[in-house]
Amino acid sequence: MSDDQAVRATNDDATMCKSFAVQLGYWKDRFVNLMSRNRSRKTPEINRGYYARVKAVGDLLRMFLKTTANNCQVISLGAGFDTNFWNLQEEDNLPLNYIEVDFAEVTAAKCAYIKARKPLHQALSEDSEIDFIFGLSGNDAVRSKNYNLIPCDLRYINILEQRLNEIGIDYSLPTICITECVLVYMAPDKSEEIINWMGRRFLDAVFINYEPVNLNDRFGEVMLQNLRARGCELKGVAACPTLQSQTERYYNAGWTYAYALLMSEVYQLLPREEIERIEKIEFLDETDLLVQLLKHYCLSWAIKDSTGLGNYLSSL
Ligand code: SAM
Repeated sequence: MSDDQAVRATNDDATMCKSFAVQLGYWKDRFVNLMSRNRSRKTPEINRGYYARVKAVGDLLRMFLKTTANNCQVISLGAGFDTNFWNLQEEDNLPLNYIEVDFAEVTAAKCAYIKARKPLHQALSEDSEIDFIFGLSGNDAVRSKNYNLIPCDLRYINILEQRLNEIGIDYSLPTICITECVLVYMAPDKSEEIINWMGRRFLDAVFINYEPVNLNDRFGEVMLQNLRARGCELKGVAACPTLQSQTERYYNAGWTYAYALLMSEVYQLLPREEIERIEKIEFLDETDLLVQLLKHYCLSWAIKDSTGLGNYLSSL
């Protein structure tokens, strides 16, 4: 398996984990199982970890939508089979444009699911063209007013910009970029290019990133070994190993505010009644296991502010 194939396969893993946790009732998402081929059993700490990840990213995204009164764009880079678009559509909470980007192989598979499954294609606006071809392979894109699925290797920022221009991206609209477990698979100079480009091109922007950190202990070594055994290198970890380096990466790129929290801290900030509810779903004998796991992931976010957007968001 090539490096890129192994990276693409991480999407199947994420989708499977999300689908399994949803099936157990950790959170509601009636779309994720429409994009997952199988759903193997995961341990309680993995399920709780996924709950925290989905809840935290979802809360920040919804806060941005509320702050901008939905007059905004969402760009999900390395979106995989993410279902936020469909869930927001069901909540009647869509931005003006929801854009997802991934390798052509992944977007082609997502297109096939969208075409085949009614609840997925029903959510698209009437002007949608599934299969819109960018001159690459066919069957790999969706183009419409409210949702665009774009095939692109994120390591080529010029091509990304060109593809976004083709679908009419508006650089003056507040825009949130989400990279959920994506940047860490890229060489540091490539993820920096993305963070720089977002901060430079958009007038008002928010960046949300979720990924592993603090891997230079025994637990981290085991995580890295397991991934290596599957052909996957976490190329970004060496360059952005701590919370401090996570925020520095944004400040170096000129973002106005930057924040980073370990997922163990995020877990403590989630609503208590929700935590009590999910902790009843499965018995977890060794709670240390969960804390260990959460200490090796972080959520970071940054704000580029030209209109006071950050005054609100920075109070998070
Ligand atoms: N963000 C989704 C989620 O959290 O469910 C998927 C996460 S999965 C771990 C990582 C995703 O990033 C995969 O879909 C992979 O194909 C994509 N990805 C990684 N490097 C990429 C690149 N250079 N260009 C496009 N997509 C990339």
